[in-house]
Amino acid sequence: MADSAGGIKCPHCKSSVALDRIGVHFQKFCSAMRTDSARESSMKKFNQLYTHMQSHSRGEMTIEELQKEADRIFLGR
Ligand SMILES: [Zn+2]
Repeated sequence: MADSAGGIKCPHCKSSVALDRIGVHFQKFCSAMRTDSARESSMKKFNQLYTHMQSHSRGEMTIEELQKEADRIFLGR
């Protein structure tokens, strides 16, 4: 199974995360996020990503495009 099937790579720690787990990943599990303020700003960015995740779930965006948006939003590219 391709690992692009149901998830993206976390822009911070590069681990593969299923889309339905990505919010909780940023909130609790991301090893690259060490401070409360880092987590808080990533939850704000996650809200931006969420609208793109909805586009993806409607088939308007490929997982590759979603990954690019994630990298852009989280890493400021
Ligand atoms: Zn992470």
